[in-house]
Formats: sequence, C-alpha cells, structure tokens
Amino acid sequence: MSITNGKARHVRRSPAWTRVSNIEYIEGATLRRISVRNRASKHQFDAVVLNVSEKQRATQCDSCRHKHRPTNKNCSATLGIRSHASTPGVLYDRHTGKSLGVWAVSDENFIRSATVGTCTYTKV
Ligand SMILES: [Zn+2]
Repeated sequence: MSITNGKARHVRRSPAWTRVSNIEYIEGATLRRISVRNRASKHQFDAVVLNVSEKQRATQCDSCRHKHRPTNKNCSATLGIRSHASTPGVLYDRHTGKSLGVWAVSDENFIRSATVGTCTYTKV
C-alpha cells in the first residue's frame, strides 16, 4: 500500500507500459520515460515511469517509447550524439527537449525489479 495525496491505495502489480498513451517527459541522466497520470497541482504530479536499460543509457536513447528504434530520427542514439537530457533531477519535455527545471522524486513504487512503476514528482 502506498499513500499519494493523502489517499491510501492498494498497488498489486506494475502498471502496464503498453497502456501508456503519452510520454511527456524524460528524466535527466537516468533517461527514464515519464507519463503523467494525475496532476495534483502545477508543481506536483503522479506518473507512470519506465526505467530504460543500461544499454539504452549507454547509447543515449532518449526519445523512443520503450525499446530503441533505429528509425527514430529524434533519438540521440540514432544520431550518435550525447543526449541533451543530461542533468540529474531535471525533467525535459520529450517533444521539445526543453528543460522544466529540477523535480524531486518521492513515493517511488517499483515492484521488485520491475522496469515500470509509479513516482510522484514535486517541483523544487
Ligand atoms: Zn532510441
């Protein structure tokens, strides 16, 4: 059980990434994919988060939905460059690459070694 926004809820299994319709942000350095699930305020939101693989971080895959797609021309791995999403704690708009400043992560909930989980982000 986890507490979010004062409400208790039971978390039985990892959220399904295949059901995520939009990926708004990329987390700096970790390159985690962030899909906003609920915006509590302008400065806080709950999200479904995908941890990318070591290989994806090493190759700087920063735009693909899940696995790296070599046909994705917006991906730094395809371009062979270092990702702009390089500062730890900073969130970047997935589509524009624009920085949204530093956000703190709380209530991280990944079941065992699941790659998909939930987090709460709060603007610092
Ligand atoms: Zn990629």
